[in-house]
Amino acid sequence: MDSITLKAYAKINLGLDVLRRLENGYHEVKMVMQNVGIYDELTLTKTPLGITVETDHAELPADENNLVYKAAKLMFEEFRLSGGLHIQLEKNIPIAAGMAGGSTDAAAVLKGIRELYGLDVSTKRLMELSVSIGADVPYCILGGTALSQGIGEILTPLSPMPQCHILVAKPDINVFTKFVYEHLDAQGVDKHPDIDAMVAAIQAGNLPGILPHMENVLETVTIPAHPIIKEIKQLMITYGAHASLMSGSGPTVFGIFTEYEKAQSAYEKIKATQVAKQIFLTTPIA
Ligand code: ATP
Repeated sequence: MDSITLKAYAKINLGLDVLRRLENGYHEVKMVMQNVGIYDELTLTKTPLGITVETDHAELPADENNLVYKAAKLMFEEFRLSGGLHIQLEKNIPIAAGMAGGSTDAAAVLKGIRELYGLDVSTKRLMELSVSIGADVPYCILGGTALSQGIGEILTPLSPMPQCHILVAKPDINVFTKFVYEHLDAQGVDKHPDIDAMVAAIQAGNLPGILPHMENVLETVTIPAHPIIKEIKQLMITYGAHASLMSGSGPTVFGIFTEYEKAQSAYEKIKATQVAKQIFLTTPIA
């Protein structure tokens, strides 16, 4: 096998809590991660020499700064692979959006190289290695519905999220995760989401039980900087979402619907307002 094509799914955070700032500058988090059906497509092809990156997205680096390059380099060094690799990346996941787009691409490269080279390496080992690329990469290897703790490397798989329709809207702004965490006063957060109650509802397959616990403490930083996020959240509720939340560090907003017709109508209405540059109607991916 000389080539492999993979799908790399985006995630949303059904709940996101920050417990404290650690001395090394990272933050201890407690969050519920969920894959959704928005994905990038990657093709990895063996070449004689060197790692090369090609992408259809003009804003993305096609060099060693792309996370897919870092992931490939890590695998080549760790497993002393010979030859080279060409990585072709078709980008569909919004960038700097809070949807782990870069992390999921990196995870796909790690898994893809394991398969392409027939490496005898466990998923657990791959997840341990991957945290050096980014805190969300271990989750992206695991996928599905999961509780993420520590800096993101302590993962507990959960029951699949009950079926529903998810409207995802990203306004025309880019938010950088680093900026949001740097401006978060972890000590001063006065209202923490009840992530344990959300996990219990997920394990019970109880969608109405999940919804009241959909909270994200990072909204306290990103929304004051970009009030359009609140506007989109309100529009989603007005147009029939049972709950709406910012994902990760933002600015992407998602809304949960049980009826497809309502979700489709909200999609059309929000699209018409032009508050969101990118808008998708999708479902959870197990
Ligand atoms: P997270 O949810 O993990 O915070 P994000 O959605 O906020 O992620 P990304 O889209 O993953 O942010 O990436 C943000 C930055 O990383 C961008 O500045 C981008 O240039 C850089 N980057 C490097 N490689 C990639 C990649 N393969 N896909 C997306 N961004 C990448």
